[in-house]
Amino acid sequence: MNGDQLLRQMHGLKSVFENKESELTSLDREIGDGDHGVNMKRGFSAVSEKVSAGSAPEVMRQTGMTLMSSIGGASGPLYGFSFVKMSEVAKEDIDKENLIEILDTFAATVASKGKVEGGEKTMYDVISKSSELLRKTGALKLDDLQSLAQDTEEMMATKGRAAYFKEQSRGTIDPGAQSAVYVIHALGEGVA
Ligand code: ADP
Ligand code: MG
Ligand code: MG
Repeated sequence: MNGDQLLRQMHGLKSVFENKESELTSLDREIGDGDHGVNMKRGFSAVSEKVSAGSAPEVMRQTGMTLMSSIGGASGPLYGFSFVKMSEVAKEDIDKENLIEILDTFAATVASKGKVEGGEKTMYDVISKSSELLRKTGALKLDDLQSLAQDTEEMMATKGRAAYFKEQSRGTIDPGAQSAVYVIHALGEGVA
């Protein structure tokens, strides 16, 4: 995946999040403040307007900077800063091996910035298992990613707004885990 191909994937997330806005809004209404759909749509709409052609690391870095400045809430700095850090390990031509490294960086960045571990019902639960998925299956299939998000349903949230819901947070997929499915799927499609 070179810069042009990565740019196409990142621009493509605009329509993905337009289509998934109501799904993410419903999830965030259950265990948050109901803005995750709007946040992700706004973020990737800005990416499609502002991120222009460049090398793969440049496109990744620009995507991160744009997400940081356009998505409000907890998810903006987490996704934004992660893309900036991921750009530091990205090669000009991202292959599967490099994507594994990129996804490991994604997980490490969210872990340190979000002070989060696995099982806390966040985007981290999908992000942190994605590199292993790619290593084991050679792909990032939507169904496999979705099953990682599904695993958050029964978890109790201990981070972010959802943590205020305590036991009541069980029974809903975490909105950020769901959006991470789409972000990671788009990256995987670029190297398929
Ligand atoms: P906000 O909660 O500020 O309204 P969003 O609704 O856009 O922001 O994003 C919520 C998502 O952010 C959650 O579903 C969760 O996945 C993620 N999140 C929140 N806090 C953390 C954290 N400390 N570490 C990792 N992810 C987090
Ligand atoms: Mg929210
Ligand atoms: Mg909010």
